[in-house]
Amino acid sequence: MKIQRTTVTVFNGLQCRRDDDALLRRGFLGIVGLACGECLLPRRLRAESPASDPSADKRAVRPFKRYSDLLETIEKRGYKSRVLGYAPDKSPIVGIKAGGDKKPAIFISAGSHSTEQAGVAAAVELIDKLETEHQVFVIPCRDPIGLNGYKYALSLSLGEKPEIESMEAMEKLLRDKGEVLLDADGKLLVLIGVYGYANQGLYRKVEKGAEFLEPLKGRRLWFPSRYENVPGSGLFERAYTQVVTPDGEVLHMNRFHDTSWAPVEVRCTRGLMAEIKPGLTFDLHEYGGDAFWFSARRQRTDEDEIWERRMAAEAARVVAASGAKMAPDDYSPGSFFSKLQPGVFWLDPSLRGEGLNLADFGANKYGAAFTVETGMRQPFEHRVRTSMLTVQTAVQVFAERYR
Ligand SMILES: [Zn+2]
Repeated sequence: MKIQRTTVTVFNGLQCRRDDDALLRRGFLGIVGLACGECLLPRRLRAESPASDPSADKRAVRPFKRYSDLLETIEKRGYKSRVLGYAPDKSPIVGIKAGGDKKPAIFISAGSHSTEQAGVAAAVELIDKLETEHQVFVIPCRDPIGLNGYKYALSLSLGEKPEIESMEAMEKLLRDKGEVLLDADGKLLVLIGVYGYANQGLYRKVEKGAEFLEPLKGRRLWFPSRYENVPGSGLFERAYTQVVTPDGEVLHMNRFHDTSWAPVEVRCTRGLMAEIKPGLTFDLHEYGGDAFWFSARRQRTDEDEIWERRMAAEAARVVAASGAKMAPDDYSPGSFFSKLQPGVFWLDPSLRGEGLNLADFGANKYGAAFTVETGMRQPFEHRVRTSMLTVQTAVQVFAERYR
């Protein structure tokens, strides 16, 4: 894969003038139809370092500013897509078919955590850069509202995008327009319409079943991205979606794959998976560091697990050989991970609680699965390339199994 390094765009948080409604009216959409739970982010990240990349390509890879940009890219490139369902704002959740006809299918997804945009860009690039005879299905973004940003999320309840350029102005707006549910210890949460709006993430920061969450049970809340010098994840550029379960626990969009109650975005995903029965699933995420790692899942049979290990070993070897910085030997992503080899961890969802994320669900029901984590302190295009390389390498090993 070739990428041009000189085109990294730094968004300035200005309100985008694109109009999703105009796209809907033109019928286009009808045609195409912090923290990650596993990858907790520090609030502020350092500036990206410039670097040159000899393998330059004409096609620039940068974060999508708006979900409509992603849809336009899919349309312009002529990808085969279909609408799997609609997010609460009527944004279509799209699935794209690529690859060949061979089964088992490969499933690639990203974007459940809106601040982790290199995964989304990588998923879109892989549609025509993943060479395989196997069927490939891609859901590049599992949270269109989150991608469209915090002001957009506010507009769903206010009727228009607010003019806010600072956290202070945002907090004043929330207090003025919303019903305050929580305002303590620096945490602000208000209810406007049927949605919650917060000034920071509440995942694992508030007690399950807390009384103030009552009006938000079964609903979602958003807090703004605010990472300095991370293109695509600066102040207000993304709305990080968290979901309050019917029993009052604050989770996020990479849960609920195994629960009967689930946000529509998750139901679209598992609906497609039920149809294609993927023998290999990738979920492309990011974390707050500057290195690379990914997580594997224990498999249902010894044979499956041998191949899971083979894919993991080869992907780790090839990514390390590409010059990417691997997670250091003493790094651990959390208590529910155990090391398989340097840069690769087993994730045990039973130790974590909270139900199954996408890769957990893929492994539990269908076959091999990995969650890829690129480091947000690296340049954007490097992260995209590393994510793609992981998938491309694992897919080569996968293909050997079915040769
Ligand atoms: Zn994540």
